[in-house]
Amino acid sequence: MNNSVLKKLLMEYEKNRINAEHDLEIRKQELYKKNPRLLELENELNNYSINIAKQILNTNKKNYIDTLKLKINTLKKEKESIFNSLKLPKNYLEPRYSCSLCNDTGYISNLNGTSKICSCLQQKLFDLEFNKNIILMENFTNFNFDFYNNTIDEKKYNSTISPRENINIIKNASENFINSFETSNNLLFTGGTGLR
Ligand SMILES: [Zn+2]
Repeated sequence: MNNSVLKKLLMEYEKNRINAEHDLEIRKQELYKKNPRLLELENELNNYSINIAKQILNTNKKNYIDTLKLKINTLKKEKESIFNSLKLPKNYLEPRYSCSLCNDTGYISNLNGTSKICSCLQQKLFDLEFNKNIILMENFTNFNFDFYNNTIDEKKYNSTISPRENINIIKNASENFINSFETSNNLLFTGGTGLR
């Protein structure tokens, strides 16, 4: 995999992420402007949550914590009813990422602290590789292999095979790459290229 290709994709991901967060901020401001009570509820909910987090280790405060939890539930219900009356989806105040699996980071964190590449990024890398091979194959259609020298000259070509054999290997590799995905119903094709 070409490192600069991955870097470029990850920069795109970052741009998407920033856009999604910016878009959320605008949505929030507009909503709060029209419904100031929602902003109040949000602030109250935040305060209560912080308060609970502070008390949670203190077993003596169990009753107090229960009161806080009850209060939070009441506030949440009020928020929900406002959302319902405005016919807003529950996730209206969440960022709208293109990929809900990785939140446009390109990676998914595992519980053991490691991370793996997300299927959306895998698909994009695959598409690029696939297109590259398609272009290579198209170039090979009217390709004259005679133009390539068939003699082995390790010093001159820095290779133990002839330039013609080398170009043949590239051609076959591209062919195999494309065939392997055309014949198998590969999972990577279900990603809906360009639909995201
Ligand atoms: Zn993803």
